[in-house]
Amino acid sequence: MQKTVYFIEGDGIGKEVWAAARPVLTAAIEKAYGKERSLEFEELLAGEKAFNETGEYLPQDTLTALQNAELAIKGPLMTPVGKGFRSLNVTMRQTLDLYACIRPIRYYDGIVSPVKRPDLVDMVVFRENTEDVYAGIEFESGSDEAKRLIAFFRDELGVTVDPTAGVGLKPITPNGSKRLVRKALEFAVAQGKPSVTLVHKGNIMKYTEGGFRQWGYDVASEEFAGQTTTEDAPAEGKVVVKDRIADAMFQEALIRPEQYSVLATTNLNGDYLSDALAAQVGGLGLAPGVNMSDKLAFFEATHGTAPTIAGKDMANPGSLILSGAMMLEHIGWTEAADSIHAAVSKAISEKTVTCDLASQMEGAKTIGCKAFGELVGS
Ligand code: NAD
Repeated sequence: MQKTVYFIEGDGIGKEVWAAARPVLTAAIEKAYGKERSLEFEELLAGEKAFNETGEYLPQDTLTALQNAELAIKGPLMTPVGKGFRSLNVTMRQTLDLYACIRPIRYYDGIVSPVKRPDLVDMVVFRENTEDVYAGIEFESGSDEAKRLIAFFRDELGVTVDPTAGVGLKPITPNGSKRLVRKALEFAVAQGKPSVTLVHKGNIMKYTEGGFRQWGYDVASEEFAGQTTTEDAPAEGKVVVKDRIADAMFQEALIRPEQYSVLATTNLNGDYLSDALAAQVGGLGLAPGVNMSDKLAFFEATHGTAPTIAGKDMANPGSLILSGAMMLEHIGWTEAADSIHAAVSKAISEKTVTCDLASQMEGAKTIGCKAFGELVGS
């Protein structure tokens, strides 16, 4: 069996981490299945490499290929500096309707963590990826658009807004919320997870964040009635659906992480929460992730391009390697995925790691990006 995977190398450290990660995937598949299964990698251009070759940062050919694809993986892409440039990541998420950002947070023994019991952290964050304040509806202070909106609020709605304000909108829809929560519930049911927690700020923003909470509970009761239950009526084999206010959730994640499993949340909450949780278990250098539409699963390194260490063989390729393992799990090639987790776990427990981790671990041996890939892939 052969599957096609499109890849985007990425900018900055992207080239190095991809060069380290790709052979790890190939080796794990070969170890698990011999020649019976393989991935066929096809490169797509984006970022600086695309600009140098085509004059565009995100060529239409790349978008068209991704629109027809089921599997893809990418390194980090820098956001070109200057007016008028939108983040390439945000553009891809919107254009390809990659509405669910999924980030597992898993602890590897030996990682130095800022919390006392990082071993109790085992969560998966499902973040809505297309709505909320990231929808891109934002107008500069003093612009005609901001002034017109402020006048509309005053004249039509009787709402006073300071005329010098920059103005942004926070659209959150029933459909957008429901499809994200549905994905989280499907995952929790399939994986036998104990709970799904809806994380929101509905106490303050009733019609947007509060809407998300209500629509989330609606999906659970209307579509997963037999498989879910509530916090006050726990039942063997059923997923508890509960909710927490976002600020309390940050505190809970630190104090009682063992009580949380799958978290489903809006875009901005999810952005903060997934990075904060990743920091508890080793940081972004080790955090895998995927952005999903109903068709495409687009795995990615969750960190940025780290320009200060690019080209120095210092980057940690762990995030992209583990995103690759997540991709193998997604297509059901679990034996290969498990062998990657075991190899990463072994390298960390033996304290042979890249400098971002070694600098925090007493007695650790620092190795480069390439060597870490070779170690994990061996
Ligand atoms: P960054 O993640 O690149 O760097 C933050 C810090 O973490 C730096 O100290 C960096 O050296 C370190 N770091 C990051 N990844 C590492 C790795 N794999 N190994 C070792 N150390 C690592 O974030 P930033 O500096 O805010 O952003 C730089 C660029 O990356 C910007 O252009 C930004 O737009 C882009 N970015 C892209 C993505 C993405 O493509 N998903 C995500 C975040 C930032």
